[in-house]
Amino acid sequence: MSQAQRITVLGATGSIGLSTLDVIARHPERYQVFALTAFSRLDELEALCLRHRPRFAVVPTDVAARRLQERMLAAGLDVRVLAGKPGLCEVAKHPDVDTLMAAIVGAAGLEPTLAAVEAGKRVLLANKEALVMSGALFMQAVRRSGSVLLPIDSEHNAIFQCLPGNYAKGLAPVGVRRILLTASGGPFRETPLEALADVSPEQACSHPNWSMGRKISVDSASMMNKGLELIEACWLFDALPAQVEVVIHPQSVIHSLVDYVDGSVLAQLGNPDMRTPIAHALAWPERIDSGVSPLDLFAIGRLDFQRPDEERFPCLRLARQCAEAGGTAPAMLNAANEVAVAAFLERRVRFNEIAGMIEAVLDAEPAVAADSLDTVLAADEAARALAQQWLQRHGR
Ligand code: NAD
Ligand code: MG
Repeated sequence: MSQAQRITVLGATGSIGLSTLDVIARHPERYQVFALTAFSRLDELEALCLRHRPRFAVVPTDVAARRLQERMLAAGLDVRVLAGKPGLCEVAKHPDVDTLMAAIVGAAGLEPTLAAVEAGKRVLLANKEALVMSGALFMQAVRRSGSVLLPIDSEHNAIFQCLPGNYAKGLAPVGVRRILLTASGGPFRETPLEALADVSPEQACSHPNWSMGRKISVDSASMMNKGLELIEACWLFDALPAQVEVVIHPQSVIHSLVDYVDGSVLAQLGNPDMRTPIAHALAWPERIDSGVSPLDLFAIGRLDFQRPDEERFPCLRLARQCAEAGGTAPAMLNAANEVAVAAFLERRVRFNEIAGMIEAVLDAEPAVAADSLDTVLAADEAARALAQQWLQRHGR
């Protein structure tokens, strides 16, 4: 490669952001950090700026931007600090950026990620909520701009790797019967159902196989994460919801599988470490070292599979219904879930109330066609308002 790829990392202080910077730092000749952004823990962002020397940094407010700007000047660094959503969009679509790592959590990542897609960037998508909310518009923008969209979610990255090479060139996959989306089942896979009323945020956030941000950890415990991933897979791989089957695989070694009409089933395996899909997408179609240790099948010994139980995981059922309903239903599902998860983390709702709260929001507001970004953002806002009303009535 002649020149280093210039990369913006949205959500640099998060779990995916830090793993991305770890892989980038292993290959200074290939990658150069163009911009880093964070919403909280701004001291950590400052330390990352000192280490990676980006051209831009983005923080949530003007006050925080002035403070970080002064510190950068004091350290003798030529970093421009921007603020808020306009700052995020600017560093996502800047003409000097080659690649965007979209690693903000939740709906907040939608507009900057879409800005990069519209500008035709290479987009590494961790922020699944952005695609879930606006799937049709997002994929239209990818096709229109010629943006290269590479999935970071380990399951979707695995599926991508198991599809024929021509898929990535924009051709629909041929001969695929089903996509088998694996799920660990999270920390409550075997917890007695009656005990789910009393599980704590700390228990929900201690995932057996992966170390992740708090929101996705709770989503993994409720399996809403798998529901969002089902919707994500439908958009990324042009599949119908009925073609995507969820398989519980507690070891998290097989990251997903593709079942072809001739009976072949292809899988991608690896240790559960997000640096593998990140390195894959950074280097694609080449391969680079990620720092992940080689898979030791003898130490793992066995791989198990189970059918998910929808009584235990009602969020999975809700997500499948929204995938089938289409329109603004997935955006409402996502928004209600974001409010529910935040309320659970603040101990305002019980873990086993999350699904009921989301269902109440979905029942209160009919889905409409998601034909513009404004419609999607309005559905997101309406669902958040309904979820807040539910909390006023039923929350602690
Ligand atoms: P995290 O909570 O660790 O980090 C989130 C990052 O986004 C932080 O840098 C934070 O400052 C920033 N952020 C939060 N709210 C923001 C806002 N309102 N505006 C701007 N920035 C904001 O989350 P994570 O675990 O790194 O997950 C990031 C995304 O990647 C999520 O969409 C998640 O579903 C997806 N993902 C994560 C993993 C994983 O292993 N962590 C795996 C697959 C997919
Ligand atoms: Mg995943």
